[in-house]
Amino acid sequence: MTTPTFDDRDGYIWFNGALIPWRDAKVHVLTHALHYASCVFEGERAYRGKVFKLEEHTERLFYSAGVLDMKMPFTHQQINDATYETIRANGLTDCYVRPMAWRGSEMMGVAAQTTKTNVAIAVWQWPSYFSPAERLKGIRLDMATWRRPHPDTAPVKAKAAGLYMICTLNKHAAERKGYDDALMLDWRGQVAEATGANVFFVIDGDIHTPTPDCFLDGITRRSVIALAKARGLKVIERVIMPEDMSKATECFLTGTAAEVTPVREIGQHKFTPADVCRNLMADFDLAVGKVEVGKSAIA
Ligand code: PMP
Repeated sequence: MTTPTFDDRDGYIWFNGALIPWRDAKVHVLTHALHYASCVFEGERAYRGKVFKLEEHTERLFYSAGVLDMKMPFTHQQINDATYETIRANGLTDCYVRPMAWRGSEMMGVAAQTTKTNVAIAVWQWPSYFSPAERLKGIRLDMATWRRPHPDTAPVKAKAAGLYMICTLNKHAAERKGYDDALMLDWRGQVAEATGANVFFVIDGDIHTPTPDCFLDGITRRSVIALAKARGLKVIERVIMPEDMSKATECFLTGTAAEVTPVREIGQHKFTPADVCRNLMADFDLAVGKVEVGKSAIA
């Protein structure tokens, strides 16, 4: 069975204040966002009916819109309420949530002073594809060629559509070579992040992760750092050079879609997912409410 395309599904999408049939949630070809990347978005997940860190995601959506000089025509509370309204309307409890805000078609050209900000929220089922045991084998990353830009060159802290051009180029190149994803360096040549997730390494029992000064400080990243500290693990945020990866024994990615995903290979470097990956995957599943306390899916 083929997966239905994203414009041809049953269900409802919240579109500028009201739920409308999924197939009617359309924009015109002369939409500013489509030409000039004036679009920001979020990726969230609901577990057993509750969106993990919804307020933080909504906060980041408004922050990203502000960075792109876009006025949001709704309040945080309206977006939070609309999120649950959309989840309920689609009869889902465990799903991915995609709020987005973009400039409309009132003006065409680089300047967009009079465009209206449109806001939509779509939700769909997006299960973890692998069982915990299978995930523990780890994924394989290629070294990306396109790098994360200098903060003076692009609004690197915003979850803005334009920044994903780099990610798509890198991910396509990696997939063509048979890898699952790619690890990006930043403009200085320091380890930055994967194309849709943050990266962590275990070196001598401590957890090392790059300081997020030119890429997204992920909400999952911050949650997993707190979980690791609660376990008594030491977490060090620092400059990580590509050669430092040779000292790491374990490696994992974090992100709303990725959750905690062990990595077994990055270019020439090999890792063996072990206790740190296993424990943080289990802690994360409990924290998000995927599994009930006392019923961890991982032994
Ligand atoms: N970096 C990039 C490029 C991403 O797209 C994401 C996913 N939003 C992340 C990091 C992780 O962010 P979060 O944990 O907030 O989902």
